[in-house]
Amino acid sequence: MFSMAGRREAQRVAKRKPQGKRVDFRRNRLRPARQKHWHVSSEEPEAHIEDAATWETVRHKGALSRKRTIVERAEEPPSADRSQLMRGTAIAVRGQYVEVDSGEKMWLCTVRRVLRTRLIRERHPVVAGDEVLFTPVAESTLNEGVIEEVLPRRTALHRSDGRRHHVIAANVDQVIVVSSIREPLIKEHLIDRYLVAVHAGGPEGIICINKADLDHEARIPEILERYLRIGYRALATSTATGQGIEELRSILAGKTTMLAGQSGVGKSSLINAVQPGLNLKTAHVSVATDKGRHTTTTAAWYRLDMGGAVIDTPGIRALDVAMIPLNELEMHFVEFLDKIPHCKFPNCVHIHEDGCAVKAAVEAGTIDPSRYESYVDMFVERSEQG
Ligand code: GDP
Ligand code: ZN
Repeated sequence: MFSMAGRREAQRVAKRKPQGKRVDFRRNRLRPARQKHWHVSSEEPEAHIEDAATWETVRHKGALSRKRTIVERAEEPPSADRSQLMRGTAIAVRGQYVEVDSGEKMWLCTVRRVLRTRLIRERHPVVAGDEVLFTPVAESTLNEGVIEEVLPRRTALHRSDGRRHHVIAANVDQVIVVSSIREPLIKEHLIDRYLVAVHAGGPEGIICINKADLDHEARIPEILERYLRIGYRALATSTATGQGIEELRSILAGKTTMLAGQSGVGKSSLINAVQPGLNLKTAHVSVATDKGRHTTTTAAWYRLDMGGAVIDTPGIRALDVAMIPLNELEMHFVEFLDKIPHCKFPNCVHIHEDGCAVKAAVEAGTIDPSRYESYVDMFVERSEQG
């Protein structure tokens, strides 16, 4: 467990006004905000060079003029030899600083300039969850270090805006798709979107329906059953009554988990119920309160006392499946898989073809109509995107 004082100090330093030179910010960065898409991939992501912004602090100076401040350290401390390097996990990236958890302590690290240049060139910035090797520089209240190496990723979770991919978190084992039954009202098709994106990438998808105390019409069991019967793990929770918290704890133990879901569904509350005091929001406070300045914190990684870790990402609004080839969409509906070979036409897309085994299964009640509807929605949307 990291020291809260160390973390606060790290946040304070990360908020420090950077000393650096200014360069003009190209106008083409001023495109209107695009819809963001999320995707999880086990392959190395093809991130765009704009991810280089991870190393920079971007200041908003109105719509017409934006300057980019690039921070450069006057001198870099020398590298330790390989045997002296320490290993840790990048837990958050703020501007040019990476918070690294070595297991016993938190370290505030910069990235060795030559590595930084290479990472930018290879479109592979450090993200939360990355395993890194670093040279310890100073050990006091604030431990500083310099990252020398980023170890290969097991998985990379990324977001796409349709043309570019931005890595948001690395080495995730499972994604818990959190919804609330009410406040905000559950969006059942959104669960399926998340599950498709997660399945496409490799980590296990788990369904969690929170705020079970607000389930006045007792709808949760039916929704959970929809997923349980096709092999997913699914649970109902309430941080108000404690329902499901033990089960959640056993799911989290020993794994690196990402919580995905709209803001307000109770992700932070759930984690705090599992491990009181681990306030997920902490990581974002400095970003939110640091008026005008926008640091590119994409996700934060938290070690759990019982083993394992949680990756928290800022609220996901629109999840999309734009990175999945249209003809592969069916593969991510796990209950379709044993039906597809029985469709009359080998290129059946299961929408208006005769002799479609998927549609037959929907009519026979073996495939849930709501799941099928999610498939059709996603298919139609993806075909319109071309
Ligand atoms: P996040 O944005 O997904 O991290 O959601 P938060 O954890 O910040 O929770 C949003 C709101 O929902 C807060 O006001 C919580 O107190 C409330 N909340 C969280 N879990 C529950 C629950 O199980 N039942 C009820 N009734 N409210 C909850
Ligand atoms: Zn079919």
